[in-house]
Amino acid sequence: MTAAPIRKIPVGVLGATGAVGQTFIKLLANHPWFEVTAVAASERSAGKRYSDAAHWLSGDMPERVAKLTVTACDPAVVDAPVVFSALDSDAAEEVEAAFARAGRLVLSNARNYRMDADVPLLIPEVNPDHLALIPIQRAARGWSGAIVTNSNCSTMVIALALAPLHQAFGIEQLFVTTLQALSGAGYPGVPSLDILGNIIPFIGGGEEEKIESEPLKILGTFENGAVTPARMRVSAQVNRVAVEHGHTACMSVKLASRATPDAAMDALRSWKGAIAGLGLPSAPERAVIVTMEKDRPQPRRDVNAGNGMSVVVGRVRTDPMLDLRLVAMGHNTIRGAAGASILNAELMFARGLIKA
Ligand code: NAP
Repeated sequence: MTAAPIRKIPVGVLGATGAVGQTFIKLLANHPWFEVTAVAASERSAGKRYSDAAHWLSGDMPERVAKLTVTACDPAVVDAPVVFSALDSDAAEEVEAAFARAGRLVLSNARNYRMDADVPLLIPEVNPDHLALIPIQRAARGWSGAIVTNSNCSTMVIALALAPLHQAFGIEQLFVTTLQALSGAGYPGVPSLDILGNIIPFIGGGEEEKIESEPLKILGTFENGAVTPARMRVSAQVNRVAVEHGHTACMSVKLASRATPDAAMDALRSWKGAIAGLGLPSAPERAVIVTMEKDRPQPRRDVNAGNGMSVVVGRVRTDPMLDLRLVAMGHNTIRGAAGASILNAELMFARGLIKA
């Protein structure tokens, strides 16, 4: 069990007005360890009250944050030691580096630094040992802060569902088709007339390439000061669908050691992940939940499993070409974004990398 900090740790949210930024604000509203003391966004929003700057998307805006004034994304004005970044990738590169240079710990959702050799691409249950890249990053870049990233939202669903199978049997090949929710495109995102009653078989920003590369780093091994990627070939096709929240991944995998669907389900069910017992506030009881119902997982019914922090896996069956097929689904703005960053920060506090 990790002891809570004596007083809450002040944190800032960069890109606080967007879809992921708002999810940070909601998840941090009653967080036992962290307290939002600064909200920052673009110059369009800077200087306004948060309640005026953010087009709030669901539920009630936490009162304390509603009154804060949005600032520019500048380490000279955001003085929190820890910042969560929900910045657009166009802004993230420069801004996140500026904060790390200024000695801050940056927990980033943006794609810019994820695949850099000295930056952890972290899922606490899967690869907590990759945090050992932080001193290497500091030495290489000459900054006293650090950048720690979480994956693309679909990668998160895929990597969590596959981690137990990779650890038990080894995965050599993956074919994956995703059905991705609208909130994954941010706000206002895809125009309603383009998506209502429709499927768009394309997502920009290199979505397929991210899914084809990020899981290899996440499932890779940290040795001799570097991550050796998992030896796995991935082919991804992505689709935007008219679902509010919840990305679905339909997968076929080829295993290094063959396994029956029952053996695979046992491996998924018995998997505890690397942070069991640490008592991290955002960690779900089970990061991977197996459903036996023939028509699940479904975003509408399963997206809030584990408060949005669990990935639900179902339809585990034999694949006539490779070895196994399965379907996984998870909440893209919680487990796939803000919740993932917060869990990363909680692990860093438990490891003494964030000080009270
Ligand atoms: P979004 O709704 O478009 O929000 C973007 C945020 O970035 C807004 O707060 C915006 O502020 C701010 N911003 C834009 N340009 C800026 C600039 N030049 N300087 C400072 N701030 C700037 O996007 P989102 O969906 O929340 O995504 C945020 C990040 O998370 C992206 O990098 C995205 O790829 C990543 N991500 C998203 C998801 C998801 O499910 N949505 C999942 C994983 C990762 P203003 O309001 O002032 O314009």
